Amino acid sequence: MGFKITFLGTGGGRHTTMYQARSTGGMLMEHPGGTIHVDPGPSALVQMRKIHYDPARTSSVIVSHAHPDHYSDAECVLEGMTCGGWKKRGCLYGSPTVIDGEGGLGPCVSRYHQSIVSGTRVFRPGDVLDIDGLRTEVCRAEHSDPTNVGFRFHTDAGVVSYVSDTSFSPEIAVQYRGSRVLILPVTTPWDLRIHYHLCTEDAAKFMSVVKPELTVMIHFGIVMIKRGPETEAALAEERTGLRAVAARDLMTLDLGNEVVFGDAMTYNDDWVPPSSI
Ligand SMILES: [Zn+2]
Ligand SMILES: [Zn+2]
Repeated sequence: MGFKITFLGTGGGRHTTMYQARSTGGMLMEHPGGTIHVDPGPSALVQMRKIHYDPARTSSVIVSHAHPDHYSDAECVLEGMTCGGWKKRGCLYGSPTVIDGEGGLGPCVSRYHQSIVSGTRVFRPGDVLDIDGLRTEVCRAEHSDPTNVGFRFHTDAGVVSYVSDTSFSPEIAVQYRGSRVLILPVTTPWDLRIHYHLCTEDAAKFMSVVKPELTVMIHFGIVMIKRGPETEAALAEERTGLRAVAARDLMTLDLGNEVVFGDAMTYNDDWVPPSSI
C-alpha cells in the first residue's frame, strides 16, 4: 500500500540538461500495481544504477512530451523493462508527438521499441488511464510541444499530480484542485519568467489555486540552480502560506498518512548483476 516516488532527476531545460548540472532522469513511482517510470530523460539509466534499481522492475513508462529532457533515455528504459527486449511486458504511454510524431516533433521511441512492449497508448487531455490499476487523469498543458499534458494519479494516499512543462494560467491550475501532493516543474526563479514554463512567481500562483498539502518543485533550469531552489521554495511558501519543498536528485517521498522524505543514494562501484538477468 502507499505510494513512493524516487526523484531520479530534478533538472530541466536545455543548459541544465546538456551540462547535467542536475540529473534529468525523471521519476519512479511505486504503487501497489507496479512501478511507473515518468519522463526518463538523460541520466535515467545512470541514476538507476547508482541506487541499484533494476529497470526490469518497471511496469509502465510515461513520456509526457517530445523534449529530450523528458524522453532521451526512454528506449533503453524500455529495453530494461522488457529484460533486454526478450520478454514482452509493460506499457508505454506517450503524447502524439512521442508515439507517432507530429508537427516536426518526434516520434521519440522507435517502431522497434514500441513493438517490444505489451502495449503502446497515445494519451490526450481528458483521457482517463488505468496504469496497472492506478487511475490516472490526463490534464491539459500549454507548452511548446502542444501535445504535452499533466497527470493526476489517484493513489491510495490521495491524489498526486505531476504538472509537466506548462505556462501558468488559472484554467491550467484549476485542473489540479483536490491534489494532496503537487509536483511542479519550476524552471526559472521568481523574477525570470520564460515562455511555456513556470517561474517561482507562477508556482506560487499555481499553489494558491490548487492549495495542496505539499508542493514539490522540480525541473530546475541553470539560473534556478545558481539562485538556489531551496531559497525559491522558501519564497513560494512565504508568499502562499502553503508548504513547498525543492526536490534533490535521488530524494524519495513516501506517501502514507504522513509524508516521509528519504534519500535513495546507495552508490558504490561494486556493481552486482540484478537477479533478472
Ligand atoms: Zn522540460
Ligand atoms: Zn518541454
